[in-house]
Amino acid sequence: MATQTHFQVDRPVKDTFNIGRWFLESFNRRKPDPEPEPLYNDKLIEISNFLQSVQLEPTPEAYKLAWEYKYGASFQLCLAVDEMIERHGCIPTSLVKQLTKTYLIGGDSSQLSELITNGKRALRTGHKIISDNRSDNRHYSRALEQEVESFDQLEGNQSQLRTLISLTNAIVEKSEEAERQLKDAETQIAEMRNKLDDATQKAETDQLTGLPNRWAFEDHLKDALLRSQEAFEPLTVAFIDIDNFKLINDNHGHEVGDRILKRVAKCLDSMSDSKCHLARHGGEEFVVLFLDKNAHEVFEIIDNVRAELCEHNFMNRETNKAIGTVSFSAGIASLAGDRDPRIMLRRADSALYLAKRNGRNQVVIHEDEFVH
Ligand code: GH3
Ligand code: MG
Ligand code: MG
Repeated sequence: MATQTHFQVDRPVKDTFNIGRWFLESFNRRKPDPEPEPLYNDKLIEISNFLQSVQLEPTPEAYKLAWEYKYGASFQLCLAVDEMIERHGCIPTSLVKQLTKTYLIGGDSSQLSELITNGKRALRTGHKIISDNRSDNRHYSRALEQEVESFDQLEGNQSQLRTLISLTNAIVEKSEEAERQLKDAETQIAEMRNKLDDATQKAETDQLTGLPNRWAFEDHLKDALLRSQEAFEPLTVAFIDIDNFKLINDNHGHEVGDRILKRVAKCLDSMSDSKCHLARHGGEEFVVLFLDKNAHEVFEIIDNVRAELCEHNFMNRETNKAIGTVSFSAGIASLAGDRDPRIMLRRADSALYLAKRNGRNQVVIHEDEFVH
């Protein structure tokens, strides 16, 4: 099966229509410095050529999409763009907005996670400063109190000494007040930290199934890549898609569809452990990442779940109507020597496509896994 190389479509680039050069020239004209950074230039040319190869006008929105596709962090966006190119041979202008909205603006929740992480870091720093201050303050306050006591024991009524004592008393009071305020601030920070923990949980959890969502998956994938590299262990991904799910919705209603989705999620979740991460990828699709298993080992696990699920006869308890069996198809691929997660995801996606084309209710390993 051909691996995806759409972004390297080799078309003769006509001199008269070299968007890359056109963009650079106008970019340089506007800049007082005629020598922009070469690396940035290369990227712009690459992006311009990409836009040309997918027949997109160089609008700001198209540039944003192309930049994210080439250099951004969203694997899902890459898959969606590749799928679109495969289907249409280009990216229709009318779909650019949809792609950006789904994967970039919709990516707000991943940006939210980042915001939350930064917020937590700021709170940690704030908390440390306040605790340090509190402890300094307490020591200072205690030292002053002791001094005042020793002043009180002195005989005589020298007015200078009395002034000194009352000034010192005022400072002690102020410092106690500051201590109380710092304590309040510390309590507020602890409350905010709890709220941020809740928000992180919500931003990364799918509401319907309670599973991690695709943003959580992307984060997890980044960690898993590092861990697999450190431990010299294989990394394998599987895309799982419920078969003919639209029919279930059409025949039994959306609510029944939701319940089936939850049941399938629960069934798949039985695979999860510290080295197997399941997420709802969107719609009726799930994605599973196995940290220490190769494609063939993963096949065994997923195929067992598939066989178990499709033996069950579902019933609509409210209407007592039979829903029948529910099945899924899955595509599996492992991280190859190139260590490029995008290629692994694309392979798993095309294996899933093959599973669907071959009749559904089956698990397919990408053919490249049989080469070595
Ligand atoms: P295939 O075997 O080719 O995957 O067919 P399919 O019908 O499963 O796939 P298709 O993409 O045609 O339809 C998917 C359906 O899943 C359409 C959409 O309404 C439904 N769906 C997506 N998310 C949800 C959800 O959260 N709840 C419910 N009830 N339905 C959903
Ligand atoms: Mg689907
Ligand atoms: Mg489906």
